[in-house]
Amino acid sequence: MRILVVEDEKRIADFLCRGLQGAGYAVDAAGTGAAALENIHSADYDLVVLDLMLPDMDGLEVLENIRSKRVGPPVLILSARGGLDDRVNGLEQGADDYLTKPFAFVELLARVRALLRRGQPAPERLQVGDLVLDCIRRKVSRGAETIELAPKEFGILEYMMRNHGRPLSRTMIVEHVWDMDYDGLTNIVDVYIRHLRSKIDDRFALKLIQTVRGIGYMIEAPDKPAERPADAATQA
Ligand code: CA
Repeated sequence: MRILVVEDEKRIADFLCRGLQGAGYAVDAAGTGAAALENIHSADYDLVVLDLMLPDMDGLEVLENIRSKRVGPPVLILSARGGLDDRVNGLEQGADDYLTKPFAFVELLARVRALLRRGQPAPERLQVGDLVLDCIRRKVSRGAETIELAPKEFGILEYMMRNHGRPLSRTMIVEHVWDMDYDGLTNIVDVYIRHLRSKIDDRFALKLIQTVRGIGYMIEAPDKPAERPADAATQA
């Protein structure tokens, strides 16, 4: 899947590119409307994330140009102009979705996925061991038990399950789940992981969330229950 990010503000463009790449997409960036049109005409994109206020033209002109292609990619408008008129205007001109700045990355990613999923048959469902996360209904269950998660907890869990078996640093987790203006400490990840563990792991023999020393966390189904708490010291 290849995504074009059209955004002139470098900080936001970098944030989007890093995040989308981290989610497994190939990402190109364009900082002007002209560069965006050049990209669009030279490559096939599965999705365009489009800022409306560009230095050289209105993003809606870029949108118009994309829509004039016979089969254009879906377009997600990203704008500080959050008024109802702007939103309706953007959608009427053929945008597929509209997100107002500031936004949380997890929200953007949910919409990106929804747009990319259109026309694909299977609903998205992630599974690690007996833990199941339904990305569309935003529901989580383990075995027969339904688990209620707060939005940030859900965001972290979804990110970890999409990358299951891969260690994720606290910084990666923060960048994926908190909005781009968040500049607090990455310690907050530890707090949320504790909450998540209490909801999805503590009552179960198999612990899915693993601490990866020196890195952060990873989710993976182990072959057998961990022999906590003294497993590390009693090997001999
Ligand atoms: Ca802009």
